[in-house]
Amino acid sequence: MSATLNEALIRDVVAEVLGRLGGNGSSPAAVAPPAARGGADGLFGDVNAAVAAAKVAQKRLVAAGLERRAAAVQCIRDIVIQQAEELGRLELEETKIGRLDHKIEKLLVCGRATPGMEFLTTEAVSGDHGLCVTEHAPWGVLGVITPVTHSVPTLACNAIMMIAAGNTLVVNPHPSGAKVAALATQRFNRAIREKTGLEDLICLIEKPTLQTADEIFKHPDVAMLVVTGGPGVAQAAMASRKKAIVAGPGNPPVVVDETADIEKAAAGIIKGAAYDNNLLCIGEKEVFVVAAVADRLLEAMGRHGGFRLTGDQARALARAALHQDEKSGHWVANKEFVGKDPPVLAAAVGLSIPAGVQCLYGEVDIDSPWLPCEQMMPFLPVVRVRDVDEAIAMAVKFEHGFGHTAIIWSQSVDHMTRMGKAVNTTLFIKNGPCMAGLGAGGEGFSSFSIATPTGEGVTSPLSFTRVRRCVMVDNLRIL
Ligand code: NAD
Repeated sequence: MSATLNEALIRDVVAEVLGRLGGNGSSPAAVAPPAARGGADGLFGDVNAAVAAAKVAQKRLVAAGLERRAAAVQCIRDIVIQQAEELGRLELEETKIGRLDHKIEKLLVCGRATPGMEFLTTEAVSGDHGLCVTEHAPWGVLGVITPVTHSVPTLACNAIMMIAAGNTLVVNPHPSGAKVAALATQRFNRAIREKTGLEDLICLIEKPTLQTADEIFKHPDVAMLVVTGGPGVAQAAMASRKKAIVAGPGNPPVVVDETADIEKAAAGIIKGAAYDNNLLCIGEKEVFVVAAVADRLLEAMGRHGGFRLTGDQARALARAALHQDEKSGHWVANKEFVGKDPPVLAAAVGLSIPAGVQCLYGEVDIDSPWLPCEQMMPFLPVVRVRDVDEAIAMAVKFEHGFGHTAIIWSQSVDHMTRMGKAVNTTLFIKNGPCMAGLGAGGEGFSSFSIATPTGEGVTSPLSFTRVRRCVMVDNLRIL
């Protein structure tokens, strides 16, 4: 554990003890100390203990009523907003991927724009035969897997929505972001206990492994899985016998046609691709530009924070930063380049770049390994194509049928419509960077789990509910 993470943990424990000493003994904070309950404010060494605690916690959450539930959700929002800088820095220190400014921004967006209990509306239909009420009920204990790319944002976003819907969580975080996830979990649980008296709403496996993930997948008291990650975990969750919401990998293509506002397109593409050093699953991963405007786009990208590599340099970077997986034959990124800053990539091909470069980019051939690969690093490949038909066909090909995200820069409604139909993705963004698809600069709410193969789309509290109908026959209609 890094010194600063240790310091943060010690500070928290001291504050906790002092708080208890100063307490009057009757406040919700004065419940049994964590050690007496087996889990240290939601941290557990084994899956059985975590699920057992989450099961008890879920019953208490439902019994506590909506006002206390709302207060618990608010605690998580307050912490990610007020401590965004510290948690963002600790996440970067531990994971060593991404950018501090964007780590902080993601936590702020998570706290402010993740939907909560306001989504749980009740629907009613009345008629000659009485009244039918439809309500959104909790599932119970949810098994949650989070990615290294957004450890605390995914944890917090999932927790806000799942608790709002009346569930509790057992979380297996990515091992490389597990310490900061544990710290955040303790802070969320402590704040919730102090405010509401509710405990262990988030139960996290302190030393997560594939074995503990599998135990969660198979545990009889876990009602549903919610998995956010790459192809391996997506397949494992889909193969499990439980209901699963799977937020899987993406490889978002961008099409730029001859009608596009090129200056805006160049700025938006660099902004999206550079975000958190290209770690976002919705982030721009490859560009198909029609030949008539290709030179203008390539030039303009350099004016908006991009640094252009030659064809040879782009090929050399691919040799250094990508490899073909032996088993699947798929192109994958080398770990030492994932989420690194542009100068690290540039140095790999012997270049030193000016300060302030947001993203490297370069023209590549259609058979370049950059295109099929979800690179998650700040290099963006650009391919020159004949016309919009070819651009759309290539976008469909390299999106791999994930059904995740696609982007078009165009003024032609016809082109937009054709691409939307052909690519069939969960998010389809026109004339904006990827983040606009999740409410940052575009309309709509935010979420860090975009359920693609299982079809829930941008998850909301409703995604984590069971729909229940309550009928009164021939009565209660007051008209
Ligand atoms: P990853 O697949 O390496 O890990 C994700 C999580 O799954 C981790 O907690 C990991 O420990 C676990 N895991 C991996 N293989 C597993 C298996 N076989 N069984 C059980 N658990 C397993 O992904 P990552 O590097 O952490 O995150 C990046 C990936 O996640 C990218 O592919 C990105 O597109 C995707 N992602 C998708 C969304 C979305 O909303 N759709 C959001 C964020 C990230």
